[in-house]
Amino acid sequence: MTIDNLPVSPMPMNTEFESPVNPTAFQWKLWIYTNYDCNLRCTYCVAKSSPNAPRRSIGLDNVKKLVDEAIELGFGHIFFTGGEPFLLNDIYDMLAYASERLETTVLTNAMLFQPRRLEKLKAIANDNLEIQVSLDGGRAEDHDAYRGKGTWQKTVDGIRVLQENGFRVRLSTTETPANTDHMDEMRAFRDSLGIPEEHHFIRPLAKRGYSKEGLELGMDNLSPELTVNIDGVFWHPLSTDADMQVARHFLPLKPAYDTVCSLMDEMARTGTVSRVSFTCG
Ligand code: SF4
Repeated sequence: MTIDNLPVSPMPMNTEFESPVNPTAFQWKLWIYTNYDCNLRCTYCVAKSSPNAPRRSIGLDNVKKLVDEAIELGFGHIFFTGGEPFLLNDIYDMLAYASERLETTVLTNAMLFQPRRLEKLKAIANDNLEIQVSLDGGRAEDHDAYRGKGTWQKTVDGIRVLQENGFRVRLSTTETPANTDHMDEMRAFRDSLGIPEEHHFIRPLAKRGYSKEGLELGMDNLSPELTVNIDGVFWHPLSTDADMQVARHFLPLKPAYDTVCSLMDEMARTGTVSRVSFTCG
């Protein structure tokens, strides 16, 4: 899953803030890092997730409070990411609570949807809930180069299982040196899966976390998307490194929201940098 990387298709949204910032006109998204452990150990993982990573779970009660406050603040969309969220037993309750109230997307590598988990997911299915799967190629070698041998086939199998069971699947592709010459094949494969172009987000590799190559991105060139983990609130889901942190406490969310509004205002008055969203939706 994760915010896995130069813009291809569709282009990341360019945003320049106007001063003073009108918070109600901004399209706010809330991201929640549910956990940091993962069944994979991708060599470009910006979250430094792996099977050995400490779980650092945020917990269902906190998620419910965050969803409630996000709605009060006017957020229109909530995203769940990790780690691999479907390692958590309570992810279904988190997704059910959120998707009963607002548009909800969960990011996954789609490798864990064997019958028990699939049945739990089907039990909470609704029109507000969509699944975003990370897929880096239309052929195994392009995807497996950074994600591990055999992972492409398992992810493709997972996508098909989700589709057969009625779920809306979006794709996220990280463009890397391994797959950059084969993006046409990636798009053709997406088409063969019946996934529309507008539900496929391609982004460049980012030099964060475990990745030693890629774009250097930070608060000065990313449009804010409020992101919460167990340690506080961050500017953008690309990274929960210290340089991206805007608050040490995630509840209530309002002080962090106000801080981000003030920072956007300051950037609009003093800066000319064009920002990109770097995420889907
Ligand atoms: S699947 Fe996502 S969270 Fe897991 S290691 Fe790979 S990039 Fe990181």
